Parts: sequence; structure tokens; C-alpha cells
Amino acid sequence: MKLTVIGSGTGLIKRERSGPSFLISEGEERLLLDCGWGCLGRLLKTGENPNRIDNIFISHPHADHIIELMAIIQSKVIHNCYFEDKISKTTVWGYKGIGRDYQTLKKMMVPEQEEKLEVETKEEGGQAGKMSLTIIEVGHVPYFRSAAIKIESGGKILVYSGDTNGDESFWQTAKGADTLIMDASVGSKVFLRKGRQPTHTSPQQAGLLADRAGVKRLILFSLYDFEEKLEMIEAAAKYFKGEIVYPSDLDQFEI
Ligand SMILES: [Zn+2]
Repeated sequence: MKLTVIGSGTGLIKRERSGPSFLISEGEERLLLDCGWGCLGRLLKTGENPNRIDNIFISHPHADHIIELMAIIQSKVIHNCYFEDKISKTTVWGYKGIGRDYQTLKKMMVPEQEEKLEVETKEEGGQAGKMSLTIIEVGHVPYFRSAAIKIESGGKILVYSGDTNGDESFWQTAKGADTLIMDASVGSKVFLRKGRQPTHTSPQQAGLLADRAGVKRLILFSLYDFEEKLEMIEAAAKYFKGEIVYPSDLDQFEI
């Protein structure tokens, strides 16, 4: 599998980091993890065609994770109106409630979709080409449910946490991952001053969980850059001795 960081940022709009979004490529298969603001602009820079991404995972309905989903769906519908090489089906995977929420969004934003493009939603895991997907509920905010995803292919494992408070059971979700992409939006100094936060994870917690789960590479995301890159990496490195990455958008990794 190949991982491209499309957006490593948060809901705070800024030039350097798009909202959360990650592209997994496995042969011809594409899986987009979350569709934060700005993700389509970044995706196009990689040379990828968003119309040809057949699998999209939405971790939860905060705007910075779902906002560009319907733009992709609308683009596929328009493609199918004008071109012969039709897009056959799109699967939207996600949190418990994505099926209901997708219906609402479709009625509002792309009511034409029904006749022009087949879309299925899946709240349980399943198979996306060679990739086996497992969707796991995680704690984030009290307003709706949030999910992480585990992707297994060719003997490799990638886990994406989505936004989470990183409760202690999360290490079981990440167990044995070659790469863990983990929420680290609570700054290391904030964690030292205030301790565990109810909605997001700190680099210290990410390091602890990565160590306990035995992962090889830890990629921090949901980055505000309120603190220096080195401070954030060192905070995680106190607990985790594997590779720690504080990424930039468009970074690529072989899993
Ligand atoms: Zn969130």
C-alpha cells in the first residue's frame, strides 16, 4: 500500500495544512480517508482523479472531515452525464450513522445522484479490492459517533484513528500496525498542564498507545502547529521508540 498525506491539519483553515484527508493506493484501488476542507485541491496536485476514487471512508461528521464528500459525488454524477466511460459504483464507508447522514446530504446537495451514480454506504467493515477494512467505534464528542479504520493488505496493516480522545482501549485497535495515523491535536504542553482532554489526543498519548500496540511507524495528524515540530516529536518519543512522523501535506509513505 502507498499512503499520501492529503491534509494533515484541523478545522482551522490555513495555507500550510488542509483539513484531514489521506489517500491509500493499492494497485489500481483507491481509498480516501476523510474529506477535509481543501482536500480536492491537494488531491489534484498529486495527479489523482477524484472521480476515480471508488472508496471513501468518513470517520465522523465534523465539517473538517466530511465537507468535500458531496463535491466528489456531484463531480462523479456530472461525469456520468457527459462521458461514455461511466463510473460504476462508489462505496462510502464510515461511522455508525453515515448511511442516514448520507441520505440527508444527497437530498440537499445532489438529488440527481439516484439516476446517475450508484452509491452504497457501509457502516461495517468489508473488502475494498485487495484491502480488508475494519471499522471501529472510538470516543470523540457526545454529539455523534466517530470511527477509526484498520486497513489490511499484502500482510501490512495501516490504522487511521480519525478524531479521538484516545481512550486506553485504542491500543487494541492499533495492535501490530505497520503505520498508525493518530490524532495529536492536543499540544504536548497543554497535556502536561491540563492532562487528558475529552475530545482529542496528545503526542504523549499517541506515543503511549503506539508503544503498547507495537506499531512500527507513528504519523501524527490533526496538527495546529501551535508548538514546534521537534517538541511534538520528542513528547511522543518519550514513550515510543519507533519512527515518529510529523508530516507535511503531500508526503508519501510506503506501508
Ligand atoms: Zn472531530
